[in-house]
Amino acid sequence: MTHWPKISAIISDLDGVTYCGDEPIESAIRVFQRWHDIGLPYAFVTNNSTKSAKEFSNKLNVMGIPISPERIITTSAVAANKLNKLLKPKSRVMVIGEPALIQAISDCNFNIADKNVDAVIAGLDRSFTHKKLALAQTALLNGAHFIGTNPDPMLPKNGGFEPGAGSILKAIETASGIAPTIIGKPKPDLVNMALSILGTDQQSTFMVGDQIMTDIAAGHAAGIPTIRVRTGVIEKGPLSISPDFDIETLECIPADAVVTTKKL
Ligand SMILES: [Mg+2]
Repeated sequence: MTHWPKISAIISDLDGVTYCGDEPIESAIRVFQRWHDIGLPYAFVTNNSTKSAKEFSNKLNVMGIPISPERIITTSAVAANKLNKLLKPKSRVMVIGEPALIQAISDCNFNIADKNVDAVIAGLDRSFTHKKLALAQTALLNGAHFIGTNPDPMLPKNGGFEPGAGSILKAIETASGIAPTIIGKPKPDLVNMALSILGTDQQSTFMVGDQIMTDIAAGHAAGIPTIRVRTGVIEKGPLSISPDFDIETLECIPADAVVTTKKL
């Protein structure tokens, strides 16, 4: 039997762990409800920059998982944080992305523009055009910073796939010869932000995800133990890293591994 160490907090991926697209994963819903009831702290991290934390928390609440927007860390939030460190307030920033990303950058007191910008930030943009590509190319050749939300080349959609943010980043990189600084998983930034929000320790805070090369890699990079669940995307072929625990569903985590300080 597998020996499970103490689990005192969870940082979890969204798609493929709590739901697939718009379909809730019932076993995960039951487990998060139980964790909520016993007072286990948890937060979610997602590479998806097309929705705000509030929209994600509404989606989870409707499915039955109690969570506040403050505990959902998106690449938009981490990107905005990164720009705050790089640029002065009111700097001009070009955003290639969906409205949630544009809103997150604008909420941080930057001016959204497409010419004479100090930074280009790019994520999944379903209305990406040659014109936007040309504007980003010009900005980068003129020395703007280049930040990418996440490197995912493709996303599951209706039983098939659609191009992800990584496809757009590669187009801009090819046009400009400049590679982006990536902030989404497999980089540790989202997980590190979740750790600081939860305030829990690295040894007993576990990263949960369905994808080894993004979620588990991000957990490793942040120095925390990892659990892969097989409820979402299952990667094929030999992979360079492996999770500490590999389970079918979240219900395979034994209840006595979870330790909370809440008095029942
Ligand atoms: Mg996933």
